Amino acid sequence: MRSGFRIGRLFGINLIIDWSWLLIFLLVTWNLTVGFAQIHPDWSWTLRVGAAVVAALLFFASVLVHELAHSLVAQSQGLPVRNITLFLFGGVSNIQKEPPSAKAEFLIAIVGPISSFVLGGLLLLLGTSLTGGIGQAADQPRTILAQLGPVATMLLWLGSVNILLAIFNLIPGFPLDGGRVLRSILWGTTNDLRKATRWAAWVGQAIAWIFIGSGIAMVFGVEVPFFGSGLGGLWLAFIGWFLNSAAIQSYQQLVIQDLLEGVPVQRLMRQNVTAVPPDATVGALINDYLMGTDEQAFPVTDNEQLLGLVCLEDVRQVPRDAWETTTVRQIMTPRDELVTVEPQEDASDALDKLVRRDISQMPVMQNGHFLGLLRRRDIARWLEMRSGETAR
Ligand SMILES: [Zn+2]
Repeated sequence: MRSGFRIGRLFGINLIIDWSWLLIFLLVTWNLTVGFAQIHPDWSWTLRVGAAVVAALLFFASVLVHELAHSLVAQSQGLPVRNITLFLFGGVSNIQKEPPSAKAEFLIAIVGPISSFVLGGLLLLLGTSLTGGIGQAADQPRTILAQLGPVATMLLWLGSVNILLAIFNLIPGFPLDGGRVLRSILWGTTNDLRKATRWAAWVGQAIAWIFIGSGIAMVFGVEVPFFGSGLGGLWLAFIGWFLNSAAIQSYQQLVIQDLLEGVPVQRLMRQNVTAVPPDATVGALINDYLMGTDEQAFPVTDNEQLLGLVCLEDVRQVPRDAWETTTVRQIMTPRDELVTVEPQEDASDALDKLVRRDISQMPVMQNGHFLGLLRRRDIARWLEMRSGETAR
């Protein structure tokens, strides 16, 4: 699961910063400090660093605007958005469901690059309006740049970065915005979401490999258009690698959802699970239950009533010398804190719950009665059985 911290909430959406974001923030600030030193040798060190930090923060605010545009259109299409996360490679809107139609997907995808284009254009306009009379006096771009004040420098940089952000996101490789636009068009014309996703993912992988290849070539001194050559190629290759795994993953997710759709939880769940009494000691739990099986979790019941769930992780927290004095009731996750499913629920929704909560199993309950456990392993086994049949 991603780890990070929450910086606020807008339109009911949590804004989260992943720890990996700090790395890219430092990198951007560093690059800008160096860049400002080249263009403005007359600026003091404090001014360069200060301007770099402010510009980097504004850049991430621009990424946030881009993601908010996606999220708000998603909400208007009836799709809940839980959070927006900023991480190493930019931002991601955690939209809780796949778009219901090709048109909805097209709108949600295209609005991001459009908002970046508009924002970039406005910032560039604002920046050039500040440069007013400088143009006539200087003959070279470099001298024009050198005469810009801090605000104009930042506005022009931020404006061009937003335009680049829009262009990068329009690359037609799924799951980038451009890839989603491509998929929505294919989906709309073929009426087959899975086929559309497969094609868009292929294009995504092809583009990813071009990135990786060009990046490696750059490291070996090959001049790549727009990117130049040198160690910056490593970054390009890294982005390519990220795009490639994202494309593969998005397609696999769809296949899994497809395979599980319409399969009720009761078909996959484990019945006749061994239950543990609440007053058993941790020592007894280990010797009589845990050591005899490869089960990771046990329901805790009293007179057929589910009281909670105890798992290997809970046991690990107990120091060895407290095994005989601690009871299962003390370490279990109590029932009201557990996520549960109903037997007739769709297995694809259930898997979604497991993944989003980052848990390995859930009790299956009906009208307050405990029926069994649904484990990730059971879903995985079902998928293993079924994926052979449907592989094309
Ligand atoms: Zn986007």
